Amino acid sequence: MNTNGIREEGNNTMESLISLCKRRGFIFQGSEIYGGLAGTWDYGPLGVALKNNIKKIWWKRFVEDRDDMYGVDAALLMNPRTWEASGHVAGFADPLVEDIKTKRRFRADHLLEDAGVDVKGMTLADMDAKIKEKGLKSPDGNALGPVRQFNMMFKTNIGATEDGSSISYLRPETAQGMFVNFKNILDTFHPKLSFGMAQIGKAFRNEIAPRDFLFRAREFEQMEIEYFVNPKDWEKTFEHFRTEVLAFTQDIGLTDKKVHELEVAEADRAFYSKRTIDFEFDFPFGKKELYGLAYRTDYDLKQHAEFSKVDLSYFDEESKERFVPHCIEPSFGLDRTVLAVLADAYQEDEMKSEDGTSEKRVFLKLAPSVAPYRVAVFPLLKNKPVLVEKAEEVYKMLKKEFAARGLGAVTFDDNGNIGKRYRRQDEIGTPYCVTVDFDTIEKGTGVTVRDRDSGKQERVKIEELVAYLNKSQIA
Ligand code: ATP
Repeated sequence: MNTNGIREEGNNTMESLISLCKRRGFIFQGSEIYGGLAGTWDYGPLGVALKNNIKKIWWKRFVEDRDDMYGVDAALLMNPRTWEASGHVAGFADPLVEDIKTKRRFRADHLLEDAGVDVKGMTLADMDAKIKEKGLKSPDGNALGPVRQFNMMFKTNIGATEDGSSISYLRPETAQGMFVNFKNILDTFHPKLSFGMAQIGKAFRNEIAPRDFLFRAREFEQMEIEYFVNPKDWEKTFEHFRTEVLAFTQDIGLTDKKVHELEVAEADRAFYSKRTIDFEFDFPFGKKELYGLAYRTDYDLKQHAEFSKVDLSYFDEESKERFVPHCIEPSFGLDRTVLAVLADAYQEDEMKSEDGTSEKRVFLKLAPSVAPYRVAVFPLLKNKPVLVEKAEEVYKMLKKEFAARGLGAVTFDDNGNIGKRYRRQDEIGTPYCVTVDFDTIEKGTGVTVRDRDSGKQERVKIEELVAYLNKSQIA
């Protein structure tokens, strides 16, 4: 273990992955030319493609394929009363501890966890006592000050004044953008319970110590659902979303056995939650939270009704009852999903080169559903117009079949020798490479299709290519 609690072996994988992400244009450090800005990451072309594929799959499963879900895209800036009602102004805080010499700040719970302490259910006073008992020092070797709460919301001023009345916050979660629109959905679509609202968007948290690449950032995206039910239906709805969360992890190709469910004990749940499951993932730096599923009762709607003085109840036509619906919330971190997908896909192996020697290769074993490119097309040689022309023809045909129909991007590559192109596509996780060679032209026997994972090649007739690629790809 190093001082950040990252296992050395995990650390190596993370370093290789971060370097691959930069080298191949997936993800860059935020504001890199200015030395970066901690906790921010910029997505490059391949990262955006991967992230968009994940969003598309999520939106399809949770919104488009259902009849009971309403998509919204609410403003990032909200009336500050929202955050008083939700409890964030008073209580959205992490335990902070300061190095008394350098003034660097750390998460007290993380320092304790790194020292092997189970912090579940601990109060600030408990943490203080434990730090003293263990004689814990800051990672820089100095004494630590007292543990205190630190509110993680980013404050900002709205409008041209900078007094207390203009203060608002960048939203620390997307959830509240849905609760405040609950009545709008009732009034415009008149849905019957049960129904849900779904949103994908940015969230901001002033994390005390951003770390582990995309895992803990200060600006990130969430994909959240607020699903409203009659309280008598909460258990079966909770179970439904439990299985849907797992199904989604399969859609995006995460290895089943790396996803774990943790039933959160009462002492560790938010006070309004009657049941919470954390879905954890085996990241290279340990088993950590990927998603959450919580039964939030009628807490949020009741709070907003009280603070806004707007009635947020629902009238059930059948039972003639009026009540405030209860809410089940599945919450997905998008950037944590990108990290889980990349870390799961990262592989190194030995592969035989054309000349028979073995060569180490790095490849991303991405599911075709999320890979930035579904297929790459090459002419065997760049300087033979007959090959290039035919390859362009195949490329256009595949683009029309896949990219134009939203089934995944297709790329064309004629740079360097064929071996280099395979390595390049392997590294970015392209499942198939299609090559036009002399046999394609002279014998009319079709193109070669190379499989990323096995490196095996098959010859496929051009008119059968689309069917072949469709057949061999996961939906
Ligand atoms: P953690 O305990 O790891 O800080 P949390 O329990 O505070 O997470 P939630 O408030 O439940 O997280 O947020 C829902 C989801 O948003 C999380 O499951 C995670 O996927 C994502 N998320 C939360 N904080 C961050 C962050 N700082 N960076 C990236 N993703 C995050």
